[in-house]
Amino acid sequence: VSATDALPTSPPFTGVALDRVTAERKDPGWVRRLAEAPSARAVLTGRDGVLINDGARAAVARVKPPAERLAEPILLGLEGDAALFALDLDQEPWALEGGGDARVVSLRDAGALLPHSEAGLAAYTTALLNWHRRHRFCANCGAASEVVEAGYSRHCPRCGATHFPRTDPVVIMTVDHGDRLLLGRRAGWPAGRLSVLAGFIAPGESAEEAVLREVEEESGIVARDPVFLTSQPWPFPASLMLGFHAEADGGEPEARDGELDEVRWVQLDAVRRAMHGENRDFRLPPSVSIARLLIERWVALKESAAELEAR
Ligand SMILES: [Zn+2]
Repeated sequence: VSATDALPTSPPFTGVALDRVTAERKDPGWVRRLAEAPSARAVLTGRDGVLINDGARAAVARVKPPAERLAEPILLGLEGDAALFALDLDQEPWALEGGGDARVVSLRDAGALLPHSEAGLAAYTTALLNWHRRHRFCANCGAASEVVEAGYSRHCPRCGATHFPRTDPVVIMTVDHGDRLLLGRRAGWPAGRLSVLAGFIAPGESAEEAVLREVEEESGIVARDPVFLTSQPWPFPASLMLGFHAEADGGEPEARDGELDEVRWVQLDAVRRAMHGENRDFRLPPSVSIARLLIERWVALKESAAELEAR
């Protein structure tokens, strides 16, 4: 294992393989022709998750929608020549009838079950529909707004405001002191579950500033030198996780702002054993999360540094 092997790869819920047709989607006539084409298909997500097909190769279900269901089309993009639209599963009971091997799984399960780009498609559809579902009215004047750009924005016919899909940025970070990693248990999590710290970026704050503030608020530990590593869409309902690493000069962590029930330094060997399910003391977050990727990266970097030292 070299240090470069340990660099973050693409997290789950990334890698959407569609052409998002950002320019063409502004032409309603062009979008209308796509919606009326026999090759048009729909991806369906709802509150319970995403419609998938199980089979030799699990995939997000592409369902042929009745034409009238694409009256106000939300276009995901082009897959080859065929258009993929997003439909809200909670409004489309027909999609569940006669679906053969189609079934609904939670987005988290989809992230674990599906190939990389298919999980990305599930997250993309969920993110876009979550936004439309929660933002049907203008935040400026309260009037019902209209879908424009085939779903990439909404326009208010009363006050003229344009609203773009909302994404809430969250910082999430490994913080270490030598061979110890700072891990905490969020209030309400089951006993024995630990993860890295995370928090929303506040207005008027950079992501780097948010890393240092969150670590100090949640643990009392003063961190320094935050470095951005990788990011992940996390549509529960609308987050973008920004993964960082920062260092600390020690100190005794204590849960202080009520967000964590427990926070402590954990030795490299204990983290490694938890990674392999061999630590009875605690469990790490599942591999669908960027938290897991950051923790595994940290372990790999520490191991490669130890190997170099041993040479
Ligand atoms: Zn308005």
